[in-house]
Amino acid sequence: MDISPRMIHNPLLMRIRKQSLEERIEKIKEEIAALGDVHPGAMTQQYNICGNPRCRCKADPPTKHGPYYQVSYTWHRKSTSLFIRRENAAEVRKQLSNYHRLRRMLDRWITLSVQLASLRRQQQRQARQNTTKREAKSRVSQEKRT
Ligand SMILES: [Zn+2]
Repeated sequence: MDISPRMIHNPLLMRIRKQSLEERIEKIKEEIAALGDVHPGAMTQQYNICGNPRCRCKADPPTKHGPYYQVSYTWHRKSTSLFIRRENAAEVRKQLSNYHRLRRMLDRWITLSVQLASLRRQQQRQARQNTTKREAKSRVSQEKRT
């Protein structure tokens, strides 16, 4: 259920929305905690030819060497490229996908958190208005009594 924050003035709907936001944030935190290793970047597969003129990579059609797995990434403005051993390719691929999941979840967390903060301010505003109204009412009833 997604209710536009602007549409809510009903305290019950606000509570429901707040609870839904809090639950979604908690779920993201749990998913992040359960995440394995992360690594930024992207993996490419490369096929190379060598210097040996009689090699299969020079045949027609050629059978090139590879695949070689390469990961390129930029972290803190430093670009790096490294070769990955074939037996580690699956593990590194998982780290790369975990990294992208982490970024998506952080993005989602921040979005939900901003919505939650806005909702809390709205609730506080409403609570203050209600207090003011109650005070006004009690002033009126006191005035009636006197
Ligand atoms: Zn070759």
